[in-house]
Amino acid sequence: RERELHLIRYPAQSQHVSLQAWDSADELLIDYITESITPARLHNMVIINDDFGTLGCWFAEVSPHWLSDSWIAHRSLRENLLANGQAVQETEEKLVRLPVTATNGMSPMPESPSVVVIKIPRTLNLLEHQLIELMKVATPHTTIIAAGKVKSITRNVLNLFEKYVGPVTTSLAKKKSRLIFATPTQEKLATVQRSPFPIVWHHSLPDGQRISVSNHANVFSGQSLDIGARIMLEHLQVEPSDHVVDLGCGNGILGLSALSSASGVKVSFVDESFMALASAEKNVQDNFPAQLSDCRFIASNCLEELFEQTHLPPVTKVVCNPPFHQQSAITDHIAWQMFHDSKRLLTQGGHLIVVGNRHLDYHAKLKRLFGGVKLIASNHKFVILCAAKR
Ligand code: SAM
Repeated sequence: RERELHLIRYPAQSQHVSLQAWDSADELLIDYITESITPARLHNMVIINDDFGTLGCWFAEVSPHWLSDSWIAHRSLRENLLANGQAVQETEEKLVRLPVTATNGMSPMPESPSVVVIKIPRTLNLLEHQLIELMKVATPHTTIIAAGKVKSITRNVLNLFEKYVGPVTTSLAKKKSRLIFATPTQEKLATVQRSPFPIVWHHSLPDGQRISVSNHANVFSGQSLDIGARIMLEHLQVEPSDHVVDLGCGNGILGLSALSSASGVKVSFVDESFMALASAEKNVQDNFPAQLSDCRFIASNCLEELFEQTHLPPVTKVVCNPPFHQQSAITDHIAWQMFHDSKRLLTQGGHLIVVGNRHLDYHAKLKRLFGGVKLIASNHKFVILCAAKR
């Protein structure tokens, strides 16, 4: 394999230089496929969870079906295909013709895939759901190869392949990564199970309203309410005239609480996960159907997509329970970007309200950025902070 690609993690300007767009699991996959699978077998290839589009670029020539729940992954793929001359930019600024069919996993996978490559995702829930969806379209001739860091290929991961697909073997480890080979059996193909997702649970909001909370497979804290979110709910105050942005909305619990506490409030739900946005939208439909027209659901990296939407009403509050990792890397760069973007988007006199673990020290960051910050509440583990745009 002698080819040179120029690859970035989107958005390139805010990534640490040490974080590259591919890992040794990608290299192992590319080496294995190049050596062991004939190009003709790749005519109906599916690529799943390719974090920054590396595999999409490498295999672009065979026009694969490419599936990811992440808006950032979709953006990375697009930027990388363009940078390597593999996609065509149409005259209208944003329209790009891609050589791959990029989908977000909310629609079915293509029938009878020949070769399926799966990067092991961070959550077992997502892997479980994807294997079930895959078995709805696979055949006994489908070659399934998964790849990941040795430490991510746990017994539980192998159990999922054995439970839903069939017998499993693994490669030797190379540069701390391994491959998993799983062969779909007739028996498993004949008895494909129903996905346990979305998972639905119920919660009583502080104003007493009991709501149902539906969670697709990749939603943060999808089995129960996050403890940070729980504390935030107890202290969230919203006026009917507010336009609230629920930034990193997950299942939308913070925005749902805003809808419940003040009629007339407008809420924009923002996340980089398509499953999170689909869950938030379902939760508004099921619990506050009359307010659906006051809500928007926007896929974005932090708030960047909102800057371009000039028709949005002025944003008076941003509520945020920030993420503290990207894939497996623990990082505060996303929280930092979220705070910067909030300051830019908020109308004068508007507020950013953040919940976070004490040790993350968001206090110092917000004080520096906004020129002041107020502690709204705290316990031994969490703080809720409020910063005003002056
Ligand atoms: N608001 C929900 C709650 O309180 O339960 C979820 C909070 S969870 C800690 C953080 C959320 O941020 C996740 O839903 C994740 O998908 C989303 N996220 C991560 N990176 C993001 C980014 N760059 N832009 C937008 N959302 C992001």
